[in-house]
Amino acid sequence: MARYTESFCRLCRREGLKLFLKGDRCYSDKCAFERRGYAPGDHGQARKKYSDYGVQLREKQKLKRMYGLLERQFRGYFEKADRQKGITGTNLLLFLERRLDNMVFRMGFTNSRTEARQLVRHNHFLVDGKTVNIPSFMVNVGSEISLREKSRKVERILDAMEAVARRGVPQWLELDKDNFRGVVKTLPSREELTMPIKEQLVVELYSK
Ligand code: SF4
Repeated sequence: MARYTESFCRLCRREGLKLFLKGDRCYSDKCAFERRGYAPGDHGQARKKYSDYGVQLREKQKLKRMYGLLERQFRGYFEKADRQKGITGTNLLLFLERRLDNMVFRMGFTNSRTEARQLVRHNHFLVDGKTVNIPSFMVNVGSEISLREKSRKVERILDAMEAVARRGVPQWLELDKDNFRGVVKTLPSREELTMPIKEQLVVELYSK
C-alpha cells in the first residue's frame, strides 16, 4: 500500500501549521515548526502570495496531511461526503473523524494518528469486541474501542495514555483509562472540531 515516507516535519513547515504528526515530539521544544516556523527549501522564508486556487489547494493539503491520507483516499471521502445530505464540508470532516485510526488517537491510546495507524494494523485494538486492523474502518456512534488484553503492557501506548491528561479527550468520546477502553458517545458538531481548517475551500477546489 502506498504511503508517505518523507519527513513529517516538512509537511508542517510547508502548511505553516503544526499538524501533530510525530507524537510526543510535537509537544516538546524539539518540534521543527517551533524552531523553524517557515516553509522548507531555499525560498522558504520569502513572502508568498497565493492565487485563489493556491489557497484552496493548500487548505486541502493541510486537511489531507493532518489525517495522514493520500490523494485518492481523501478524494474518495469527498465524493462520499458530496453524495450525502447536509453540508459537504462538514460531512467530509465527519468521515475523517470516524476513521478508526483517528478515534484511537483522539481517545488518547496513541500520541499521533500515524502511530495509531501502525498500531491498528498490528492488531492491538478491538471494536465492539472484535479485532479490527483496518485504519480506515468507519466507527459508529455507540461503538466501543478497546485495547487487546495482550497489548496492555505496550510501552508506547501506556506513555500515550499518561500524556492524554495534557491533551484531553474530546467531549464526544468517553475514555475509561483503567479498563483500556473508550466509547463513541456521539459524533462531533462542527464547532467541536477546533482545528484551524476552512473545509469550504476544499469543497470549492474539488467542485471546479
Ligand atoms: Fe509537526 Fe510534530 Fe514535526 Fe512539530 S514535531 S513539525 S508538530 S510533526
